[in-house]
Amino acid sequence: MRCGASYACAFVKYRVAVRELIDVGRELWKRRLVTGSSGNLSTRLDDGSLVMSRAGISLRNLSAADLIVTDEAGKPSDDEVRPTSEYQLHVAAYRTRDDINFVLHTHPTFCVVWSKLSSILPRDTVGARETLRDVIVTRYQPPGTAALADEVAMALKRADNVLMERHGLLAVSSSIEDAFLQTDLAEEAARIAHFSRLAGFTPTD
Ligand SMILES: [Zn+2]
Repeated sequence: MRCGASYACAFVKYRVAVRELIDVGRELWKRRLVTGSSGNLSTRLDDGSLVMSRAGISLRNLSAADLIVTDEAGKPSDDEVRPTSEYQLHVAAYRTRDDINFVLHTHPTFCVVWSKLSSILPRDTVGARETLRDVIVTRYQPPGTAALADEVAMALKRADNVLMERHGLLAVSSSIEDAFLQTDLAEEAARIAHFSRLAGFTPTD
């Protein structure tokens, strides 16, 4: 969006970002890339502040009230609300990558299953090779911890997609559409890997 640095322009950008997060949250739900109250998402605004989903909500019915503004360290501007329990993942991602503006964290079923089986998510199909970028699988760390955020931050230095063992996926991008598509494609790659394995094939990277 072409816009100046005025307060009015910043507010318009904020409103656009909120709309995008709401829309993608619903799409993630519809594609079953998140279930229940799992998953969280965020964007970084021009002034460095973050907009992220708050704790305990479902992405299925996101509203503007569920998306809270925090500082760069994940501290909410309103003390009455809590950010997602995985806020450290989002903070670590933006600190590690100054080229990104969106972080999507999901729990896609086949990605999670595959993370129990292998440290490599195969991209051995034409579709995956053409469209899915690298997915780095990280070792298990407890959710909501600095250890998990550190592990993911290390991986984000080498890739835009990180699959956390027994947990889920983190996709980062400068574009929310791209982050969504990478999430969707990673799940499809994991689904194909899973059924290939059941059929007796050994997926390769
Ligand atoms: Zn999670």
